[in-house]
Amino acid sequence: MSMIHITLPDGNVNEYASGITCAEVITDALGKKHGCLAATVDGVQRDLSHSIESSCSIDGIPSDSEHGMHILRHSAAHLLAQAVMALYPGALPTIGPAIDRGFYYDFAMEPIAHDALKAIEKKMQELARKNFTVERVELDQDSLKDHFSHNPYKLEIINDKLEAGDGSTIYKQGEWYDLCLGPHVPNTSRLMFVKLTSVSSAYWRGDQEREQLVRIYGIVEPTKEALKATLQRMEEAKKRDHRKLGKDLQLFHIDEEVGQGLILWTPRGAVIRQELQDFIAHHLRRQGYSQVFTPHIGKLDLYRTSGHFPYYQDSQYPPLVERDLMKKLADEGCTCGELSNLMKSGEIDGYMLKPMNCPHHIKIYASQARSYRQLPLRLAEFGTVYRWEQSGEISGMTRVRGFTQDDAHLFVTEDQLADEVLGCIELVQIIFEKLGMHDYRVRVGLRDPDSSKYVGEPERWAKAEDACRKAAQSLGVPWTEEEGEAAFYGPKIDFVVRDVIGREWQLGTVQVDYNLPERFDLTYKGSDGELHRPVMIHRAPFGSMERFCGVLIEHFAGRFPTWLTPTQCHILTISEKHKAYAETVAQHLRERGVRVEVDDGDDTIGKKIRTHRQLQPAYMVILGDGEMEQHTVSLRSRSGDQIADLPLASFINDLMEEIDNKVSQPSLVPPENT
Ligand SMILES: [Zn+2]
Ligand SMILES: [Zn+2]
Repeated sequence: MSMIHITLPDGNVNEYASGITCAEVITDALGKKHGCLAATVDGVQRDLSHSIESSCSIDGIPSDSEHGMHILRHSAAHLLAQAVMALYPGALPTIGPAIDRGFYYDFAMEPIAHDALKAIEKKMQELARKNFTVERVELDQDSLKDHFSHNPYKLEIINDKLEAGDGSTIYKQGEWYDLCLGPHVPNTSRLMFVKLTSVSSAYWRGDQEREQLVRIYGIVEPTKEALKATLQRMEEAKKRDHRKLGKDLQLFHIDEEVGQGLILWTPRGAVIRQELQDFIAHHLRRQGYSQVFTPHIGKLDLYRTSGHFPYYQDSQYPPLVERDLMKKLADEGCTCGELSNLMKSGEIDGYMLKPMNCPHHIKIYASQARSYRQLPLRLAEFGTVYRWEQSGEISGMTRVRGFTQDDAHLFVTEDQLADEVLGCIELVQIIFEKLGMHDYRVRVGLRDPDSSKYVGEPERWAKAEDACRKAAQSLGVPWTEEEGEAAFYGPKIDFVVRDVIGREWQLGTVQVDYNLPERFDLTYKGSDGELHRPVMIHRAPFGSMERFCGVLIEHFAGRFPTWLTPTQCHILTISEKHKAYAETVAQHLRERGVRVEVDDGDDTIGKKIRTHRQLQPAYMVILGDGEMEQHTVSLRSRSGDQIADLPLASFINDLMEEIDNKVSQPSLVPPENT
């Protein structure tokens, strides 16, 4: 027996007899309770049962690591297929990958109802308890095909793999086996904590022309506690889903007849957007930005200069061509393909719905000769842009086809770059702070040092990258730098917010740009009397108003701070007698700019409270005899706490203070248990 040398996770090297398994080495290194599902051998993932024939280095893959979870999820997909086959012997398994938060498996079978998942889940747990060993079996091509001769889907995969020169293996657990490269968990008892979440349909290989399959989704966790926590998080995420809350709270509407991915801001949602825009605009003025307005379209030539056309035309709405020209081309028998080519080559012109605001802002910069004394020039616009997202990608407010960016372009000298990047970042910090978004991180995208795709001189890049790093550092939040993540035209800073239930949302960007000033030949006269090239900064730190509002709806679970709440006070009367007083209170509030709704109808006060609670006003103002006689109000908070007999004048003053200071949550009703 020959001896081999294995480098252990702690860096020590031990001598073993060849043929030892990964499991044995890891147990030796980490102890019996190592919690690993598989191993890496010289960086390649292997089953724990894999035997080692030559010297190498080994590491364990714990179940709570990213790779570990992937293996756990994929193994649970196998278990799901085994359970489905036990209950539906006619079904044919096709593919079953691990995905971001769980796993799925697609079956060729008659559609099943959601109710059927319970029994399948029970079967999975039963099979898991049997603790089958999950065994890797290497087969030659013919016996591989023999094993799946009854399943045309698997045969199709096998033939593709063999054609591509790749081999394959099967994994067995009990009598059941699947085509797979592994690795997998060592036995099915690791898969006890599963939950099937939904069933839907999918096409074989994602192709609408092919067979329709049944797709079953599930999640799996290494422990009972982890599964419970994940289910709770999913439940919470469902409650916070901005698509659902957007409807319940009447914030926005999407209408098929208007178009997919095009948001209609209803009056209540528009209030939130306007408040946010006013808030951002206030800080932009403070920071010396100038507001501009530009149209929604621009000529194709503009985008030929900027480089957005024709290169990005797949992600844009098709161009608009003048009516007369269109007719002439049609009369000449021009085909769509020819038309497209004529547009690409620039022989005919047209207009485009703008995919970004930069070219328009650049033309404002270039509309007069600029001197260094005018720089930095900061042009800001809540500019609406249009992108052609694939229909499968569109979702609520967060993936849309038309959106309004909190956009600005800064034209600066090389020396001003660092300060201006810092200024962009400060604004983000102020706004996150006010919205109670304390958990966020920053990613700085730098050049890939081995690539030559970047425009602009290396020294200028080094300076700009340094400015981005320093700006990120100044925030005092976690930040990382990532090589190769810069655009070809400059380094950038991205903001990623983590919400209360741990999900991350990428918001907007601050982006340095050496390219567009070049393409549009922008200049300014320096103090030396010579012409110089300015640097541009694109910044839309919240991405778009649509996306940002979508994230905020989920962040606040629809319970906005008073200043952002669409209707801040709902005034409810106890009886008919209080109608006039309700109108007086409403009038006082409206005069101070408070958004008020009055319900002086015939319903009982209990019924009114239940109805109005659904819209989550900051306060319900309840008026009865006592309030009317004393000229006071009683308040009810969202959580049901109450406070009685506040003098009207002091209530209004306190409310105004809360709104003006943008206090993070309604605070005028103390919680009852304190
Ligand atoms: Zn597999
Ligand atoms: Zn831009």
